[in-house]
Amino acid sequence: MCGHYRISFVFRERLDAVETRISKALARSGRKRDDVTLIAVTKVFPASVIVEAYEAGLRTFGENYVQEFEGKHPLLGQLPGASFHLIGHLQSNKSRKAAELFQTIQTVDSAKLAKRLNEVGAPLDVMIEVKLSDEESKHGIDPSGIAGLIEAIRECSNLTLRGLMTIPPWNEDGEITRPYFAKLRELASAHRVHGLSMGMSNDFEVAIEEGATHIRVGTALFGSRKKV
Ligand SMILES: *Cc1c(COP(=O)(O)O)cnc(C)c1O
Repeated sequence: MCGHYRISFVFRERLDAVETRISKALARSGRKRDDVTLIAVTKVFPASVIVEAYEAGLRTFGENYVQEFEGKHPLLGQLPGASFHLIGHLQSNKSRKAAELFQTIQTVDSAKLAKRLNEVGAPLDVMIEVKLSDEESKHGIDPSGIAGLIEAIRECSNLTLRGLMTIPPWNEDGEITRPYFAKLRELASAHRVHGLSMGMSNDFEVAIEEGATHIRVGTALFGSRKKV
């Protein structure tokens, strides 16, 4: 496919490298490319970076902040088939705006937030963010609350549950993170939920081996983010 927007050589190289890593991890675990969605995480980068990635063939994007994405959104133009996932924490007072801007909210962690999103009145895909570590800074629901939240989401006619999501404590070594990925897979299986959003630039191969259906990749595609 030949887009009209210039795709830099560097981006092509990075995307190829990520796809190679994905293929190898899939081969090791006997899974196929369609089993995993690559979410390009574009927080902090301008709208032009999203358009470039789209022209290179990517269709699923992750953003962390409602307000930041609200600013970029008008600059994106028509991107048929593109889908945007909110992967950052969502305060319920921003739920209406989030439901308008995103197709999937991956960070639902309370029945109250689910109800707020449902009240917006448009169909919306959601995932449940599960907290698997005791890091203070992390959001997400305790595993003991998953069953109740699934029930609450089922009562919301506009919401479709697409799986569980987690953000383990960051570690350079993906093997250290593996038990968190395995835990999320076990929880999904116990609750008969299918999608698993887990794995970032440094550890997505391990996440794929543990069953990830969505990997969230920023740095490996776009380089390091400047501090804002
Ligand atoms: C920023 C972010 C990512 C991407 O992290 P990289 O290490 O840059 O790939 C993935 N998931 C979440 C929730 C993030 O906030």
